[in-house]
Amino acid sequence: MPFMCEHSRIDVVVVGGGLAGLAGALGLARARRSVLVLDAGQPRNAPAAHAHGYLTRDGMPPLELLSIGRAEVRGYGGEVVEGTVKSLGRLPGGGFRVGLADGNGWDARRLLVTTGLVDELPDIPGLRERWGRDVVHCPYCFGWELRDAPLGVLATSPHAAEQALMWRQWSPDVILLQHTAPGPTDEQSEQLTARGVPVVAGEVAAVEVSDDRLSGVRLRSGQVVHRRAVVVAPRFESRHALLDDLDVVVTEHPLGIGCQVQADATGRTAAPGVWVAGNLADVTAVSCRLPRPASSPRRRSTPISPPRTSTAPSRRRAPGR
Ligand SMILES: Cc1cc2nc3c(=O)[nH]c(=O)nc-3n(C[C@H](O)[C@H](O)[C@H](O)COP(=O)(O)OP(=O)(O)OC[C@H]3O[C@@H](n4cnc5c(N)ncnc54)[C@H](O)[C@@H]3O)c2cc1C
Repeated sequence: MPFMCEHSRIDVVVVGGGLAGLAGALGLARARRSVLVLDAGQPRNAPAAHAHGYLTRDGMPPLELLSIGRAEVRGYGGEVVEGTVKSLGRLPGGGFRVGLADGNGWDARRLLVTTGLVDELPDIPGLRERWGRDVVHCPYCFGWELRDAPLGVLATSPHAAEQALMWRQWSPDVILLQHTAPGPTDEQSEQLTARGVPVVAGEVAAVEVSDDRLSGVRLRSGQVVHRRAVVVAPRFESRHALLDDLDVVVTEHPLGIGCQVQADATGRTAAPGVWVAGNLADVTAVSCRLPRPASSPRRRSTPISPPRTSTAPSRRRAPGR
């Protein structure tokens, strides 16, 4: 393992070994780059029993999908190491130092960061425990499995009516739980009525569970509304903290649903030598259509930029957040 020793220089260190990171690593390893993937082992979809919509692998458990991906990367000489990266810094002569929580470190010419995002769920007792099982967000990931089931869309933003109308495509029994969100507009009310989606007023106090299955929600009034699953709209907080000192730009998604690291179509960020992919770059990306990561780190001819001066801002955020 020539690039495992502390101060050897790897072409690309990939931080985060979910689907985006492994896909990038596979391309890089096949391009005969030395590549090391460092992964904390907590992909976003881990709570789900199956990953759907991924052509040729539809229905496969998410961790199995990653295990195949790791084997493919290793098949071309790429290294995949378990561990949590704690620091990323520029080296005075160019390139980066990558530090792990256990004190190990590596030097890299380029970085591909694919640390994903955190789904921030509404603060309702019992909700987090059911996440990815019968508390869901994405109809393309879960809709087929929940087809025709009684569904409750938990409103936490003005977009909830649109979400309910979308889920109506999968089930004729969808209700909008108004919870803490403002009521639908007149136009939305008309659309909801036209599609047979009632609005249930009242704040949701808890999720009801029976025999390890969600059975409904309990409102503050005490009323229990029976449902097979609850649809939520998490806030998508990209895991960008590691990059903050490298001067990337973090922007709010145009829909106001979360923040992501700004990058061009190849994943190139504002920070020279740093590429991003997956949910870190696009909070709406699902695995079956992740942005193609990092073609550019393969271009060896691009010189590594000189280190930034200490006057550089530690992090830039675009206006609006
Ligand atoms: C419950 C649920 C179910 C889903 N189901 C589907 C589905 O059926 N079909 C579909 O197409 N999409 C699905 N998705 C979306 C899918 O999970 C994401 O699109 C996909 O995981 C994004 O891949 P990623 O590589 O960007 O991030 P992740 O898969 O989240 O991978 C990021 C990796 O980086 C690691 N990491 C983070 N910080 C560090 C660090 N400091 N050091 C080292 N490693 C780090 C994490 O541990 C993780 O392993 C689902 C999402 C959820 C929440």
